[in-house]
Amino acid sequence: MSQRSGRVFAWNMSGPYEMLHIYEVEGILEHIPDLWRSKGFLGAWEDGGYTFLFFSSESRDLIQESLSEVGTSKVRSETVIPYEDWEAGTWLKPFEVGPLVFAPPWDAAHIQDPIIVDPGVSFGSGFHGSTRACLELLVRLYQMQKPRIVLDLGTGSGILALAAARLGAEMVLAVDNQPAALEKAVENVASNRMGEKVQVRRGDVLELVEEPAHLVTANLHLDLLLELVRRPALWEKTWCIVSGLIGRQAEVFLKSLGSTPMQLLESRREGPWSAFLLYAASQQERSQLEACNPRA
Ligand code: SAH
Repeated sequence: MSQRSGRVFAWNMSGPYEMLHIYEVEGILEHIPDLWRSKGFLGAWEDGGYTFLFFSSESRDLIQESLSEVGTSKVRSETVIPYEDWEAGTWLKPFEVGPLVFAPPWDAAHIQDPIIVDPGVSFGSGFHGSTRACLELLVRLYQMQKPRIVLDLGTGSGILALAAARLGAEMVLAVDNQPAALEKAVENVASNRMGEKVQVRRGDVLELVEEPAHLVTANLHLDLLLELVRRPALWEKTWCIVSGLIGRQAEVFLKSLGSTPMQLLESRREGPWSAFLLYAASQQERSQLEACNPRA
C-alpha cells in the first residue's frame, strides 16, 4: 500500500491498471488533448489508418467531445477487457534474468537496484516468451563481449534497451513507431535515470537500421525480420539478437541467413518462441578468411 496526497492506494498486482477501455477511431490523431491525460488516457496505437485509444475508464463521451480537435471523425468501436488479458493473463511482478532484476514501479521499493519497467499498454513487460528469450541472450552476450553501441529495433516499453544499458552498453538508440510505446519508453528511461545512455526515437526500423551500432536487438515478427536480415546495414553491426519467431518460423528465419554473412551463435526457446544470437564477421575478417581458403 502506498500513501499519496492523503489517499490510500492499494495497488493490485498490475499496479494502476485494471480495466482497459479501447476505442477505435478513424485516422491518425494530430495530438492527444491534455484533458484526456488527466482522465485516464493510457496510450495510442496506430494501425492501418485507424487509431486505438486506451483509457482506464469509460471515455466515449470524452473522446466524442474532442473529435474535431484531434482531427478524426468518429469512434468506430469500443472494447473493454481486463488489463491482465491484455498482458496475456500475466500479472506484472518482479523477475530476474541473470544479474538483472526487473520490477514494475509499484513493486520496486523493496528491490535492490531494479530495472523499473512499466509497459502500460505497450509491449515489453518481460513476461512474454519472446522478450524473455532475448533478455537471456543479451545477458549471455555481455558475459562474453561488451558491445558499446546498441540499436534496439522495436523497443516497446524500452525493456531491452534498459537491460543493455545496465549490462554495460554506453549508448543505446531505442526505436519504435507507436505512440504508446514511445511514451512508455521515454518514461521508463527517465524512471531508471538512463537518459544519458538511452535515446528514444520515433521511426521505422527499416530506416533506422542504418544507424551505426555494434549490437542490434530486434524482437519483431517474421516478415520484418526477413526484410531486415537482407540489409547489409544489419550485418555491419557484428552482433544481432532476433526474436519474435514462433514455432516453424524459426526454421524459415534460419534458412534466410544462408545468403548473408550472419552466423548463428546461440539460440533460446521460451515455450513456442525462439530467439537467436547472430554474429557477422567484419568485411576485413571475411576477406582474410577467403584469402586463406579461396573455395570456402
Ligand atoms: N523490445 C520489446 C518490444 C517488442 S514488441 C520486447 O522485446 O519486449 C515489437 C515492437 O516493435 C512494438 O512496440 C512495435 O510497435 C514495434 N514495431 C513493429 N514494427 C515496427 C516498425 N516497422 N518500425 C518501428 N517499430 C516497429
